Amino acid sequence: MARIGLVAHDLKKDELVAWAQANAAKLSRHELVGTGTTGSRIIEGTGLAVECLKSGPLGGDAQLGARIAEGRLDVLVFFQDPLTAMPHDVDIKSLIRLGTLYNILFALNPRTADAILAAID
Ligand code: PGA
Repeated sequence: MARIGLVAHDLKKDELVAWAQANAAKLSRHELVGTGTTGSRIIEGTGLAVECLKSGPLGGDAQLGARIAEGRLDVLVFFQDPLTAMPHDVDIKSLIRLGTLYNILFALNPRTADAILAAID
């Protein structure tokens, strides 16, 4: 069982919910944790159990980063909005930095997320 973090920026939330719906059977075999709003949307959209952290701009990305640093996250699925400025840009950069530093499986788009799910199945 992998510990999977889930985050999507507002304009990408529908895409992540659709991806989670399409992959609900596979995801149900893993431990899921998400930033607040993303996690709630996935629970609503799929019925999957997701631990919800704080909302991203209020520290949720930082909480996920801390889990990576503590060795408590195996995979991060992070659908970013590359066209909108974010108030918590430093937290987003930190999350990407820590995912790189700790060499976790890290998807920034749906095709990579599919490949990771296939790899850990
Ligand atoms: P949210 O946070 O899921 O609480 O919206 C995501 C983010 O913007 O980092």
